[in-house]
Amino acid sequence: MDTALENRLTELLGGKIDDAGDQDLYKAILSLVKEKIGDRPETVGNKKLYYISAEFLIGRQLGKNLLNLGIYSQVSEILKAHGKDLAAVEDREPEPSLGNGGLGRLAACFLDSIATLDLPGDGVGLRYHFGLFKQEFRDNCQYEIPDHWLEEPGILTKTNVTFPIIFGNMTVQSRMYDLDVVGFRKGHTKLHLFDIDSVDESLVKDGIQFDKTLIEKNLTLFLYPDDSDKDGQLLRIYQQYFMVSNAAQLIIQEQKELGHDLRKMAEHVAIQINDTHPSLVIPELIRLLILEGISFKEAAGIVTGVCGYTNHTILAEALEKWPMSYLNEVVPHLMPIIGGLDYAAVCAYHDNRNLNIIDDDGKVHMARMDMHYSHSVNGVAALHTKILKHQELRPFFEAYAEKFNNKTNGITFRRWLMHCNTELSGMITDLIGEDWMENAAELERLMYFHNDEGVLRHIDEIKQKKKEEAAKYILEKEGIEIDPSSVFCIHVKRMHEYKRQQMNALFIIYEYLNIKAGNYPVKPITVIFGGKAAPAYIMAKNVIHLILCLQNLVNSDPVVSKYLRVVMIQNYNIAKAEMIIPAADISEQISLASKEASGTGNMKFMLNGAVTLGTNDGANVEIRDLVGIENIYTFGRSSDDVINLYNTNGYHAIDFYNRSESIRRCVDFITSPELLSIGNEQMLRDLQDNLKNKDWFMTLLDLESYASAKETAVFDYQNRAKWTRMMLVNIARSGFFSSDRTILEYNRDIWHLR
Ligand SMILES: *Cc1c(COP(=O)(O)O)cnc(C)c1O
Repeated sequence: MDTALENRLTELLGGKIDDAGDQDLYKAILSLVKEKIGDRPETVGNKKLYYISAEFLIGRQLGKNLLNLGIYSQVSEILKAHGKDLAAVEDREPEPSLGNGGLGRLAACFLDSIATLDLPGDGVGLRYHFGLFKQEFRDNCQYEIPDHWLEEPGILTKTNVTFPIIFGNMTVQSRMYDLDVVGFRKGHTKLHLFDIDSVDESLVKDGIQFDKTLIEKNLTLFLYPDDSDKDGQLLRIYQQYFMVSNAAQLIIQEQKELGHDLRKMAEHVAIQINDTHPSLVIPELIRLLILEGISFKEAAGIVTGVCGYTNHTILAEALEKWPMSYLNEVVPHLMPIIGGLDYAAVCAYHDNRNLNIIDDDGKVHMARMDMHYSHSVNGVAALHTKILKHQELRPFFEAYAEKFNNKTNGITFRRWLMHCNTELSGMITDLIGEDWMENAAELERLMYFHNDEGVLRHIDEIKQKKKEEAAKYILEKEGIEIDPSSVFCIHVKRMHEYKRQQMNALFIIYEYLNIKAGNYPVKPITVIFGGKAAPAYIMAKNVIHLILCLQNLVNSDPVVSKYLRVVMIQNYNIAKAEMIIPAADISEQISLASKEASGTGNMKFMLNGAVTLGTNDGANVEIRDLVGIENIYTFGRSSDDVINLYNTNGYHAIDFYNRSESIRRCVDFITSPELLSIGNEQMLRDLQDNLKNKDWFMTLLDLESYASAKETAVFDYQNRAKWTRMMLVNIARSGFFSSDRTILEYNRDIWHLR
């Protein structure tokens, strides 16, 4: 045991480890981590990246920091020797939910990889006082509870760095807070989160409602305040401009301190614009360069050389466009610049209205500004980038083919394997050594064992252990008993119609009706959901309602529950993901083809030895190509077919409903007496009507092929030799999805950091 470490921990604790509670231990280890981080120099270089993002879904930091500092097992042993459990101590840390889902989690994985690769690159974002709401279920419905995650002392360091931020009707003074990002074994960068001192947390009343007009008091109160009304939209523009003006001023200040010529900014600075939320950095940086005496034209050229833009979705509602009148109110000083950019880009060079930044309705299209004034435009998976080039952003691809490139997303294996599945991680190291921790491509060497019965059995035992742990957790926290020997089909992600949790719910109905009719599945199935619905997204909430009603019905039926169980985990977040993903047998990735830009959940599951049941969408396509068609279950219409159906208005849900007896029975069951006796009639009817008459994401199109693919997977699961080999192949071929690989590609093609 490391006695020096033990002594230091005891000193920081100010008492004996044996007598300490988990909370005291948490604070002491937090201090220990800060000390160790202080010993590690910050990564510097000749060119620096600023990764600007409205979301950083960083998750708990303590365990990850201990791991990356190389003292996780030492600290764990010390605690154990005193009868304490490090996992319980980690549990004391409030989770910083500064993001919604995949996009924010990607930013966090990227920070881990940037630091680990020892690249000079910082994150820039906002210090939201309340993260994404906490989700609770009552009466089979979602309730939203404010999530106040900040505490003192906590993971953030308050700095003296402040900037004046000018809005149309006021100027506020910002303050920068820093989070240390330590890489695995080496590297140390920062996440800068900006705030103002005048935010008033007592504004939050009645759930997550608050007065949206008091900007000085509410600016950074919430991540993504509800923007269904004008005040909400204005607040978002305030937040976005606040974020990017801080970023731009920080960049200029740092460049001046380094004595760099601002005209040569592209040699020393790279900015990555993560989705359109930070797009205003383009006119803001141009404005500041003009104040430094640089001409508009030259400034626009400099900024184009600095900025890269990442597109994350083809869903139209996510491509932000703001009314000019709103921008005029919040950031009037940017309007002449945006106008000039629009004029220069479109009128001068292109004769296509679809390229205009400002459209005929007076709306400012953020993504269009990004594409004109960035030197790189990337999608996040091969299929997604292809769709951007040839469908969604086609006119831009024709104008700027050289800017377009693909960067398939990735995840950090430190959190998504080493931290969350120490058993599997340990086994891999025993088999192939530990080089894979810094070079994930090494995992391929596991293929050598693909006929080794002992190894396959061991993988199976680890999976079984993780399933038992998950079952215990679900019993304790959700009060639902599940059978660890059943097949765990896990469907965890944000609730959205395109992700098609409703299709999985219809599958549950299909199985329920089968079992009621005496047709039992070959193996008991447990379907586990988790995910939050946006507070104003009625249909997603109706789907949650249906799932919770089914959970009720299925689990309390003495016959059905022997073959089928349903669980919807409350408040799905990073900590829950780390617990549930290692327990998956089947990874449900069933989005409507063309709609999931990449997905990163799919990668986490693969890495932990789950087999994917998915559509040919997003990164599923690349998973399929890597593992081979015999190690994945794919189903459903292709993205080409789907795009064609949209273009021709060729999909009518009601035809599928009328044509197939089995589809009809499932959809009808949503308003059966059994479910109506449990649930809310209005919600269930609305959902049913939507599925029959609208079904924008084509659930009924793929339902039958989904059910049959799932049945095949469950059948194959019985063949343990076959299944465990599939698990091994999936783990061995997952190296490509390390975010280290993704970041090396960004650096090679876009950033060129040195
Ligand atoms: C990885 C992750 C996501 C993204 O999952 P997808 O399946 O790619 O949508 C969302 N939320 C959390 C908490 C995650 O860890």
